[in-house]
Amino acid sequence: MTTSNAKGRITRRGFFERSAGVLATAGILGGIGAAKAVPDSDKNGDVAKNDSAPMTGKIALEEHFAFPDPAATYPIQPTPDFRLQMEDMSSRRIADMDRGGVELCILSHVGPGLQAIPNRSEAITTSRRWNDYLAENITKNPKRLKGFAALPMQDPQAAAQELTRCVKELGFCGALVHGFTQDGEADSAVFYDQPQYRPFWATVEELDVSFYLHPRLPLFTRRQDYEGHPWLLGGAWSFALDASTHALRLMGSGLFDEYPKLKVILGHLGEGLPFNIWRVDNRISKRGLRTKGKLTMSQYLRENFYFTTSGNFRTQALNDVMLEVGADRIMYSVDYPYDDMAEASEWFDHAPISEPDRVKIAHSNARKLFRL
Ligand code: MN
Repeated sequence: MTTSNAKGRITRRGFFERSAGVLATAGILGGIGAAKAVPDSDKNGDVAKNDSAPMTGKIALEEHFAFPDPAATYPIQPTPDFRLQMEDMSSRRIADMDRGGVELCILSHVGPGLQAIPNRSEAITTSRRWNDYLAENITKNPKRLKGFAALPMQDPQAAAQELTRCVKELGFCGALVHGFTQDGEADSAVFYDQPQYRPFWATVEELDVSFYLHPRLPLFTRRQDYEGHPWLLGGAWSFALDASTHALRLMGSGLFDEYPKLKVILGHLGEGLPFNIWRVDNRISKRGLRTKGKLTMSQYLRENFYFTTSGNFRTQALNDVMLEVGADRIMYSVDYPYDDMAEASEWFDHAPISEPDRVKIAHSNARKLFRL
């Protein structure tokens, strides 16, 4: 991860960081009034800091665990040890958090989770079991761990009830849901802009908690776009399309006009939406297309959405999100254990953004949003 070699030649990464650092110094990147983006000692153009200890006190909120069920599967298990890592909610996880300077994790069950259980009553029963299990583990480490509820979205009323229970009785911070839900039939996909979910969203707004919209894989019967290219599935590409499309459906359904205080979180620096949002609005406007929303998609993106850095450790992409929505709506995350706490921290701690913005993204935005 070095940015210059022994002879002082700037590497590719160093070149980009230097460019971003110059822009940040000029106040163009890193939010308004970028204060001290380039340390004084780095006047030779290498903006990376020399200290090796991570910035401490970070809060991370797209961090996954799995309920220990031998029959359960989840995508990408590179080694048998990975499963143990995913299931651990004690010393191993805490040690990894320490390596990345993460003080607090808000944990969520790994995907596709409950969304892939077509049987409604089974999904409801399982949601209680998983959420109680998470709550038990949080009790063992209450200063380091918090939780997002897993919700049986197959039944909107049951999902609202379970969210209420998790927030009021278990102290959870909101919910994390893995994209569309299969309901009844294995080959079914229900999206949350659909009318039956309006009472559910009313509950989310009333409870004043966040809803993290996490991606999931397309169903086997709907993968024509990816045939012959399995590498496109998952975090490399299809996840971003899944979550960004679902988010646009929510916006275009008028949901945020009906419930203007809703707060939806997107991971992976916004799943491509901040980059594409101008074009979405521009096409809608120029072609005279109609959505059911009263505002532009950019307005919803800035007013009803928050974004995390999970699994997308790239300064250029971070700067784009900051320019579109501002640093107040971005929060640090890793996507553990799919991504590494230390790698995320190495990037974030040294990214050429202003120190006030770094503090906001690292923890103060999350403290405010989750009232921590
Ligand atoms: Mn994730």
